[in-house]
Amino acid sequence: MDYNQSNGIDLHIHSTASDGTVAPSEILIKAGKSGLRAISITDHDTTEGCREALQQGIPTDLLFLSGVEISTNPPPSYPGSGSFHVLGYALDLDDRVLNQMLGHLQDSRKNRNPTIINRLSELGVAISLAEVRAISGRGQIGRPHIAKALLKKQIVPSIDSAFDRYLGYGKPAYVDKARVDFPEAVRTIHNAGGIAILAHPGLLTPPEGYLFETFLDELVAMGIDGLEAYYPEHGEKQTRYYVDLARKKGLLVTGGTDFHGSMKPEIHMGTGTGHFHVPLSVFHSLILRKT
Ligand code: AMP
Ligand code: ZN
Ligand code: FE
Ligand code: FE
Repeated sequence: MDYNQSNGIDLHIHSTASDGTVAPSEILIKAGKSGLRAISITDHDTTEGCREALQQGIPTDLLFLSGVEISTNPPPSYPGSGSFHVLGYALDLDDRVLNQMLGHLQDSRKNRNPTIINRLSELGVAISLAEVRAISGRGQIGRPHIAKALLKKQIVPSIDSAFDRYLGYGKPAYVDKARVDFPEAVRTIHNAGGIAILAHPGLLTPPEGYLFETFLDELVAMGIDGLEAYYPEHGEKQTRYYVDLARKKGLLVTGGTDFHGSMKPEIHMGTGTGHFHVPLSVFHSLILRKT
């Protein structure tokens, strides 16, 4: 079901270029049907989905920002765990250094996949790269594709259980991938003319009592321009906390659903699990920062 989302935006969308299941051209159509005013395609470590959308042609009533979600190492001073992802917006997609960095991350993913498949085989789980490819199509392979292949073969009852049993951090078929250092990702986004945002801060898992504000000051010193305050898994209080903190520090706020199509079926474009909403003013603030 597509909930209607008038005057809303969604600046965190994955396409078939990474581990989303909806093609860029379909994302444009779906965004229009959902009544969204602005979107960004933010695939993991690739801008191919953005390129495809731009080649397709953006509908005149939709605003489109180029985007990417880069996997980075946590800054060394960070004592907790969780995925450090940096969103880059309004980038020059032809920037040489940006493409070099993304190429490096893509190569590392390619090298990781056969290792994961070997690990699974050692665990008595037979799955081939071709079977995973049948799920991922041309896009770059991520763990969710392997999870879906395991689901298709009825080795696991759900994508979540594939992560819980095999693919998640610390599980027997977990294989790490190369990441770039946080400041390098921020610098590269800036050099490509873009804006660097800390993705889903609420998914970070710092130790009990750790002061996010102090840590944020370090990230600001590393050049971060803003926080993804609006995210479906952030509670109302948490969202307000990030919005207020961003205002206090003079940072931008952004937001999006992290739509992945049927890879995360409970999350709908624009509306998350139903009532999620990112105001259009967020898009305007981003654009103002660029000009
Ligand atoms: P990768 O980039 O290949 O390491 O895979 C990361 C992707 O896996 C992210 O898009 C997450 O949404 C997804 N993911 C990570 N952990 C889980 C989990 N426990 N259950 C479902 N999806 C997950
Ligand atoms: Zn993903
Ligand atoms: Fe992420
Ligand atoms: Fe994402």
